[in-house]
Amino acid sequence: MSDYQFETKCIQSGYHPGNSEPRTLPIYQSTTYKYDDADALGQLFDLKAEGHMYSRISNPTLAAVEEKLSDLEGGVGAMLVSSGQAANLLAVFNICSAGQNLIAMNNIYGGTINLLSVTMARMGIEVRYISEKMTDEEVDALFDENTRLVFGETIANPALTVFDISRYAAIAHRHQVPLIVDNTFATPFLCRPFEHGADIVTHSTSKYMDGHANVLGGVVIDGGTFDWETSGKFPELTTPDESYHGVVYTKQFGRAAYVTKARVQLLRDFGCTMAPISAYLLNLGLESMALRVRKHSENALEVAKFLETQPQVLWVNYPKLPSSPYHELAEKYLPDGASGVVSFGVKGGRAAAMKLMNSLRLAQIVVHVADARTCVLHPASTTHRQLTDQQLADSGIGPEFIRFSVGIEDVRDIIADLKQALAQID
Ligand SMILES: *Cc1c(COP(=O)(O)O)cnc(C)c1O
Repeated sequence: MSDYQFETKCIQSGYHPGNSEPRTLPIYQSTTYKYDDADALGQLFDLKAEGHMYSRISNPTLAAVEEKLSDLEGGVGAMLVSSGQAANLLAVFNICSAGQNLIAMNNIYGGTINLLSVTMARMGIEVRYISEKMTDEEVDALFDENTRLVFGETIANPALTVFDISRYAAIAHRHQVPLIVDNTFATPFLCRPFEHGADIVTHSTSKYMDGHANVLGGVVIDGGTFDWETSGKFPELTTPDESYHGVVYTKQFGRAAYVTKARVQLLRDFGCTMAPISAYLLNLGLESMALRVRKHSENALEVAKFLETQPQVLWVNYPKLPSSPYHELAEKYLPDGASGVVSFGVKGGRAAAMKLMNSLRLAQIVVHVADARTCVLHPASTTHRQLTDQQLADSGIGPEFIRFSVGIEDVRDIIADLKQALAQID
C-alpha cells in the first residue's frame, strides 16, 4: 500500500514506469508470455515464481489496475474479472461449496439475488436472507456449521439502504466466517469497508469506477484480515490443493491466500477474465474517480432536497437527507457523500412514474446507473422484473419507485429537467 492520500492514489498507484518506458499504462494486448528456458515456466506453473503464464489468469495491464484498486481499498491484493456478476460469483464460490450456505442481506442488487438464489442453488449452495430489522440473536440463529460467509452491499442498489458494516462484521467473526461487502455504489472514495471490519470487498467496476458507461468489469479485493487457519472452516485454503501440486494457499501466500486461490483456481477454471483494453479504460476512469464521485454526491444531495419540496413526490430516499432513516449510518460510513443515486416515488403509482420518465429530456432512460450522464430507470418493470412480489417488497421497490442516477452535469439543468417533467404529471 502506498502512503499517498486517496486522490493521489487514484492517479499514481499501480503503474510505475522504468527509465524511458511509456508514461501512461500500456495495453499489453498479448495472450502469451515468453520464457528464457523450460524450467522458468515450470516454476510458474507450480506457483513457485512470480510472473505471467497466460492472460486468462493474469496480464500486466490488468496487474497495474489491480494494484491500484487494492491500494484504494486498503487491501493486500485484487483480482479483476469480466463483470460485477463474475466478481460476486467468484468471491462467494472461492470459499463456499456444495452443501454449504451463506447469509446475505435481503435488499441487495437483483442480479446478485438471482445469482445466489437460483444459480448458486444449482451448485448446491444455499442462501439464507436476513433483513436489517432482525436482531443480532435472530441472525445468529441462522448460522450452522456449514455457514461460510456473510454478504451485504455498502449502499444497496437500488434500495439505497446503508449496511451497518461493523455490526455484521462482528456477527460474522463470532461465527469464524468472513464478511464480504459489495462496495459498488460507494466506491472506496466514499467508504472503505476494510476499515470497518469487512474481510473481502467486491465491485462492479462498470459503475462509478469506469464512470463513463464504457466497459463492464468487476473486482474482488482481499483485505488480508481474515485468519483462515484459526477459523478452521476453510480447508480449501489451509490444506493442499491437488490442482496445484499440493500448494497450501495460507502457507505459501499468507495474507493474500484468498485472492491468490481465487485467481489461480477459479479464474483459471471459469475464465471470466477482463480484457486488457477494458482494464486500460477502467484505469482512465479511476484517475478521475474521486473528483467525479464527489460531484455526483453533491449533485444528488441537491436533487434529493429539491424533490422533497415537490408536491407530486410521495417520498425521497437518499441516505444523506436528514429525513432518511439511514442518516446516522450514512454519517458514520459515508461522511463525504452517498453517491449519485437517489430514489423517489411519485403520486399516482406506476402510470405517473412512467409519465414522468417519458417526460424527462436530459435524464435518459437506461438500464445502467452510476455514470457521468444523468439517467433514470423504473426497476419494478425492468432490472427487478424477475423478482417475486415478496423479493420486490424486501428490496423496498413498489410500482411508484423511480431510480434516478444523478450525473455530473450542472445540477441546475438536472433540477430544471425534473421540474418540467413533474409538472406534466400534475
Ligand atoms: C451492477 C451491479 C452488479 C453487477 O455488475 P455488472 O458489472 O453489471 O455485472 C453487482 N452489484 C451491484 C451493487 C451492482 O450495482
